[in-house]
Amino acid sequence: MDRAALWGWKGRGRTRHLPYRRKPGIMNRMNERWSQIRRRLMDWYDHRQREMPWRGEGDPYAVWVAEVMLQQTRVETVRPYYRRWMERFPTVTGLAAATMDDVLKAWEGLGYYARARNLHRAAQRIVRDHQGLVPNNWDDLRALPGIGDYTAGAVLSIAFGKPFPAVDGNVRRVLARLFAVESPIGKPAAQREMRNLAAHMIPPGRPGDFNQALMDLGAEVCLPRTPDCDSCPLTGDCLAFRQGRQADFPVHTMRRELPHYDMTAGVIWGPQRKVLMARRPWQGLLGGLWAFPGGKQILDESLESSLCQEIHATLGVRVAVEAPVATIKHAYTHFRITLHAFHCRYLRGKPQTIGCAEWKWMLPEEIQKLALPRTDQKILNAILGE
Ligand code: SF4
Repeated sequence: MDRAALWGWKGRGRTRHLPYRRKPGIMNRMNERWSQIRRRLMDWYDHRQREMPWRGEGDPYAVWVAEVMLQQTRVETVRPYYRRWMERFPTVTGLAAATMDDVLKAWEGLGYYARARNLHRAAQRIVRDHQGLVPNNWDDLRALPGIGDYTAGAVLSIAFGKPFPAVDGNVRRVLARLFAVESPIGKPAAQREMRNLAAHMIPPGRPGDFNQALMDLGAEVCLPRTPDCDSCPLTGDCLAFRQGRQADFPVHTMRRELPHYDMTAGVIWGPQRKVLMARRPWQGLLGGLWAFPGGKQILDESLESSLCQEIHATLGVRVAVEAPVATIKHAYTHFRITLHAFHCRYLRGKPQTIGCAEWKWMLPEEIQKLALPRTDQKILNAILGE
């Protein structure tokens, strides 16, 4: 049975073709089905919702922080970070007044550091333009740094009880299966379709709970590889289940193999056992974090020679590369790296901010106070262990 027959319409599956815009009889049938889905989902959520420190939270700032932390990050990883963050920066005003170093240190290890920088910038803008109150309308929220459709929808629905959808990766997967969405999930057209579907499904009374119920269903039951349909409250409504095609949805475009780069980093020892650290430029990957200077291996150059050249290009100093410290493999969203770290001896040249935002000579023990990328934290652990 195709999806048009199952759902009682003859459109092509795209929202703009849904006949409820034109045929009130069918619209009533659709509304009836959607209210069944809502009822089943909300019953399930009332009994099975996950316990999380931010659940039941009415403070829009707390909801905003939790939703930003949860982007691309597992709930279990977020829990301790969220607790520490709310103790350290309990209000928008407190966050706005913090230094960027404090903010990055509190975020250290959580990854995607642009999220922390944007939270900080947005907090400052809220203090400046909105008297320290998180805006309760779509336009003002969306105008803040780092707040996209998902975060705006989550804050408005959960903290302010407004009927906006919040469609994250989990919700997208549930909707793709529920409605057997055939367009590739990453395409803007599919994302629009899912936002429209989610918007139509939101019950007027409990928009925040409904969005969170969909998120929980995606995270706990409608899992990417092994959906637990036996435990799902929506089996009777799910087109993928009824067609036995759960594994076909969501539809993905072909994934390209992630590129791999060999990178280098130098632990540059100078006078008085101090190490030369560089702050990465504020824009771009890991922006504003401190790191052991280095860069990509240059084509046809050895690791040691590449490292010397990268350090000179970043700081304008000359070093002699000595023994290896560690080799670290790490995967980012769009590429993988193998980072080769070496001890280096400082030779000459006054450090300059050529390819970095700032530099400092520091004792290894002091480096622990800086916000470092995960890879550099491992280098630090290696030298402290030595
Ligand atoms: S029935 Fe299965 S595939 Fe459909 S929404 Fe539930 S868990 Fe996902």
